[in-house]
Amino acid sequence: MATATLTIDLDAVAANWRALDRLSGPEVQTAAVVKADAYGLGVTRVARALAQAGARRFFVAYAEEGAAVRQALGPGPQISVLSGHMSGDTEMINDLDLTPMLNSLEQITRHLEALPGHPFGVQLDTGMNRLGVEMLEWQAVASILIDAGPALLMSHLACADEPDHPLNATQLEAFHEMTDGTGIPRSLAATGGILLGPKYHFDLTRPGIGLYGGLPFDTSVRAVSLGLPVIQTREVAPGESVGYGCTWTADTHAVIATVAGGYADGLPRTLSNAAMLWDGDVPCPLVGRVSMDLITVDVTHLAEVPKSLDILCAHQTVDDLADAAGTIGYEILTSLGPRYLRRYQERTA
Ligand SMILES: *Cc1c(COP(=O)(O)O)cnc(C)c1O
Repeated sequence: MATATLTIDLDAVAANWRALDRLSGPEVQTAAVVKADAYGLGVTRVARALAQAGARRFFVAYAEEGAAVRQALGPGPQISVLSGHMSGDTEMINDLDLTPMLNSLEQITRHLEALPGHPFGVQLDTGMNRLGVEMLEWQAVASILIDAGPALLMSHLACADEPDHPLNATQLEAFHEMTDGTGIPRSLAATGGILLGPKYHFDLTRPGIGLYGGLPFDTSVRAVSLGLPVIQTREVAPGESVGYGCTWTADTHAVIATVAGGYADGLPRTLSNAAMLWDGDVPCPLVGRVSMDLITVDVTHLAEVPKSLDILCAHQTVDDLADAAGTIGYEILTSLGPRYLRRYQERTA
């Protein structure tokens, strides 16, 4: 079988959630961000493992993603929708008991008219200029909205992974200015914000990437491994080249393994001639271009060609691979496509 196996360690995800939960005070609730199919790892299994670990509040990007989480978890846990209440979402928000984080006056009006009394939160823009109600708009509507009883006032930090960035303090100050004295539960921190310390924690934190073993949570436990089957091995003579565009040429006799996995599987083409695969503890350089379904690896130095080579393993995290590709761990994780066979590791309860 040429299909590669993506191994997802649900115990590691649960351990990362507990570790992030311990980083804030006992009065601070820790939610879990499971948007984009739990960062590519599979939302049904991941959300269940997180609920088992103790998570009671979940965040998704779109209402449709909330539907998948509700189906996985059943009634009870609060599921918040970061894109808010879009036209066409009303029925789903109501039927599946989703909590939209309203981002604009338009969404606020839509929600209060369509579903009066249905839980909602408000996302405030404190300086990222992406989503959320801005300061002046907020000042105009805050008193009316607070009477309607939002479940949460939240905002998002643009530079939390850079602790010394001046925007962190500026956003913190703006968030205080917009929310102090409201008496409504508040949330500002994602993974990076948790690591900035207690001033950023408020009542609820919203970690995503740290749950899945990614930076900036540098003490997280690795949650994914990926091994790619070797389909074929060939001998290449000095002067012969390998792959599309002849971008790698052997200068000595070489043994090349062709393995299953390519850019259609979320291995970026920018890894061409720039990454390592691993046979246990032995690194083997990726040579030539990454193609759609295949990559080629120099295994000349191995005594025996293995059945598969690892690309995500103890020696190479998602962030290491991201560095080689010129991107971030978030993009590597969320690009891991549906083509892999997924194997979930979990202690049997
Ligand atoms: C994605 C997202 C998060 C989670 O961020 P991480 O950096 O993955 O922890 C939290 N809040 C909002 C608004 C987000 O968009």
